[in-house]
Amino acid sequence: MEVKVMKNILGENDKIAAENRKLFNDKNILVINLMGSPGSGKTSLLEKTLSKLAEKINVAVIEGDLFTVKDAERIERQNVPVVQINTAGGCHLDAAMVRRAVESLNLDELNLIIVENVGNLVCPAEFDVGENFKAVVLSITEGDDKPLKYPLIFKESAVTLLNKIDLLPYTNFNLENARADLTTIHPNIKIIETSCTTGAGLDEFCDFILMEVKKL
Ligand code: MG
Ligand code: ZN
Repeated sequence: MEVKVMKNILGENDKIAAENRKLFNDKNILVINLMGSPGSGKTSLLEKTLSKLAEKINVAVIEGDLFTVKDAERIERQNVPVVQINTAGGCHLDAAMVRRAVESLNLDELNLIIVENVGNLVCPAEFDVGENFKAVVLSITEGDDKPLKYPLIFKESAVTLLNKIDLLPYTNFNLENARADLTTIHPNIKIIETSCTTGAGLDEFCDFILMEVKKL
């Protein structure tokens, strides 16, 4: 019974996601679905990269959050258009929420939309929102066992950002093991080591995004 309900929900979501994808494609907009645990550093990564990106392209952000506007306020300070989605406790964004959110953006003026999903390593991976690709943030402080424990999100993501890499010496996170596990789960996954404190990897992340925008 529950399996059937879930299948129907996902089927309906896929339909709307396909409509979103067509819309983004028609407007030549790259859409990234940014996922990761609460506290992995998704919003901080955006804060540190949006101004670099905005020098070259027109970018907007959709902020998914359970209840607050805290992250959207942080993005707004970067002078980038931002739309807040409050899921009222819902643990992931779906395609319909993103469709409603983009109604308040001027799609003719945009090259890139970054969707910051609700902090969660599980179900955001199951819901296509019409993005070009998913990216997942895994911070060093979460532990190197996460790829094997939550394989779907890493399998679905084109990029993994190993964030807070500056904290590596203070943890027992085994970088070699984590990289090996990620590559086993997803052989072509791109891995970027980042730190919002030292700035490591941020240019690489921006360059990767800009290259993907150029490909459209
Ligand atoms: Mg956040
Ligand atoms: Zn969920």
